[in-house]
Amino acid sequence: MVNQNMLKKILVVTAHPDDETFGMGGTIAKYISEGSQVFVVCATKGEAGEADPALVRQYESMAALREAEMRCAMKELGVQEVFFLGYRDSGMQGSVDNTNPNAFIQAPLQETARKIAFYIRKLQPQLVLTFDPMGGYGHPDHIHTYQSVVRALEISTDEKIDIKGLKSFQPKGVYLHTFPRKMMRIVIKLMPLFGRDPTKFGKNEDIDFVEILQADYPIHARIRYKKVADIREKAAACYRSQGGDKQSGYFISWLLRFVNSSEVFMQFYPVPLGHRTKHDLFQGLE
Ligand SMILES: [Zn+2]
Repeated sequence: MVNQNMLKKILVVTAHPDDETFGMGGTIAKYISEGSQVFVVCATKGEAGEADPALVRQYESMAALREAEMRCAMKELGVQEVFFLGYRDSGMQGSVDNTNPNAFIQAPLQETARKIAFYIRKLQPQLVLTFDPMGGYGHPDHIHTYQSVVRALEISTDEKIDIKGLKSFQPKGVYLHTFPRKMMRIVIKLMPLFGRDPTKFGKNEDIDFVEILQADYPIHARIRYKKVADIREKAAACYRSQGGDKQSGYFISWLLRFVNSSEVFMQFYPVPLGHRTKHDLFQGLE
């Protein structure tokens, strides 16, 4: 029997189906392969995403398609369980989806944070992983997720706040997934040579590399996942609507995999001491 006290648990909090796999799928696969349990909380079902109409027609709705893709990816990665918070995808900044009353960004932080705090208390993960303060590449839902998690951590640890009678809980470590700036600077210089505009990248041309580079985040952990790269790849292939089944579908992750099969994180909690990059998210947290 697994000793519950020894069991390593990780909670990943994201905004849309695919964020977990494209952003940190290698890390998730690595820790599961080493015996950790991983749970995912996802704020929306990616309702505002774009996909091939022929593919969408096979499902009841865009949400149903993307949920099915996510469940497929969770199975490939070996994730214990996924919990949807039930909000609607807010779409890219400035899109009409922003103002939908059910849009995730319309929900007050106090409410979204409480929902996330519920899972932190209930699951008691040693680690919580989410987006960096600019949501990786600036998606409003990613930024709202980051802010919700920050608030959720305060709520979760505050024993004066009651959430369905659950005990207050403080994870040992919180990490923010980010993109390695050094390499991105090189990529930006190279992109025009391949006829690519660094301000309009990705399937929906909604990734602005130049904007991403305006924020410089330190890297405290680099997780190499070469041994489980094939698992990450199978999970990514579940996301057909987002081009995950094509090798170059998601350029950044493809490039990272191509370069060294690693994902990088900034340590949010506890405040890191020194500048050494660690290669294990649990390191130094006991
Ligand atoms: Zn997303």
